[in-house]
Amino acid sequence: MSDEGEAVVAAVAAVADRLETERSHLTDLDSAIGDADHGGNMARGWAAAAEAVAELDDPEPMAVVKTAGKTLLSEVGGASGPLYGGSLVFASPELEDGLTAESSVAFAETYLEKVQDRGDARVGDKTMVDALVPAVHTFKKSVEVDDMEPVAALSKAVAAAQRGVDFTVPIRASKGRASYLGWRSVGHQDPGATSTLYIMEELLDVATAYGEAPEELPDHAESPTIPDGEVTED
Ligand code: ADP
Ligand code: MG
Repeated sequence: MSDEGEAVVAAVAAVADRLETERSHLTDLDSAIGDADHGGNMARGWAAAAEAVAELDDPEPMAVVKTAGKTLLSEVGGASGPLYGGSLVFASPELEDGLTAESSVAFAETYLEKVQDRGDARVGDKTMVDALVPAVHTFKKSVEVDDMEPVAALSKAVAAAQRGVDFTVPIRASKGRASYLGWRSVGHQDPGATSTLYIMEELLDVATAYGEAPEELPDHAESPTIPDGEVTED
């Protein structure tokens, strides 16, 4: 298994663990403005995805992401299964040549594009898009304009996703089940934006652990990890 493939398999496993931990929290959020299945959907779907990717013979990044997405598509119904699963499958070819800053930005942009194509939600509709749009734009800008390393850029993107999640609380839902509540959706945090944040936090954790180029680090003298809440440049 390549280091990159190993990192992506580890990321899927980390996401599965986290979403199992957050199962009841996500269910509580979805019971307030939906049908109380988001925690179960995410925990069940990502657990199945982790099992499926662990069984791949040649787990290169594209194959791992495509397998995870297909598994989510088959395991999870409702709004979130096709949005998460279909978008992962659709964006996976961006990783065909491996994980680089450029391919990661392309993957993030294509993933977002598919979520918006499929769900037709814009920022302010109180969906996962409210976390994704600022995260993807921040990631792209950090890499392409600010010339940051991918892990540092991802850390900025996670902070942007967190602000996006906070932004969903005071607004009214215009897409998905929560929109049926109209103004009564105000004051509640969106479940899908929240699971998007958790997934990104796990990606950051795994990316940090794997570092930028571990083979170039002498005797672990230099740690590839970034301390919590700190980025290398701003
Ligand atoms: P369902 O709404 O079918 O029960 P889930 O509870 O698993 O599915 O997921 C709900 C989440 O899906 C919402 O919190 C929201 O973030 C996201 N969502 C719903 N509709 C859309 C949409 N049209 N575009 C983007 N995200 C959406
Ligand atoms: Mg639901």
